Amino acid sequence: MKVFLDNPNLLINEFNEMAAISQKKAYITVGIEIQKQEIKVLANYREKLNDLKKEFVKRKLENEANLVYCIDKSLLSLQYELEMLVNIKEDRMNEAWENLVNAQVTYGNVMRNNPCEFQAPNGYMERLANYEKLLFPNLYFQSAGGIIKKSHCSICGENFNKCDHIKGRLYMGELCYRIITEMDLEEVSFVENPANKHCRILAIESNGKTIDILTLREKSTTAHKTQLQS
Ligand SMILES: [Zn+2]
Repeated sequence: MKVFLDNPNLLINEFNEMAAISQKKAYITVGIEIQKQEIKVLANYREKLNDLKKEFVKRKLENEANLVYCIDKSLLSLQYELEMLVNIKEDRMNEAWENLVNAQVTYGNVMRNNPCEFQAPNGYMERLANYEKLLFPNLYFQSAGGIIKKSHCSICGENFNKCDHIKGRLYMGELCYRIITEMDLEEVSFVENPANKHCRILAIESNGKTIDILTLREKSTTAHKTQLQS
């Protein structure tokens, strides 16, 4: 790994090279053992990136730490994409869906926080959206509405409304998010474009059978958490 205090382009170039190699392997036709190997390569490299980030944090170099966050999470998105393909090949469709949503959420955070030296590739969100359209059926989602009673900031731990950190922004290489610890649930509704695509209907009832939405296979009634009567 190259250290880039003087020149961030060294790390960005290294990222571009790695991303290009990974993307060549992110096709459904590529050998599964090659994809599994690439997942390991990405995970190992990301471990080194995290050591580098710790080093920058120690030296209070915020721009550098944020850049490493963006590079790390871009590679994590690629890793999720490869994991999705492997899970599809190995017939684990629920996991494949989780991988895709994780890739979208992770890359979305990068897109919102691009440091000026690093331009995350634009077309990647589109690529992920295409997977969603082509590989998965239409899914139904749930959204929980309610009143947040207690929440705090992930960066400083203060009451969420009391500090100056902004949700979705990067601070010293970490994403700020709201941690909700207490909420009065008011309603759960069905939505088409949910904030959280992990929260979805897993199975439907049809002719007395419980059918998995992704595989259309009959499920045992205890295996799933959410059902929609139809
Ligand atoms: Zn804060």
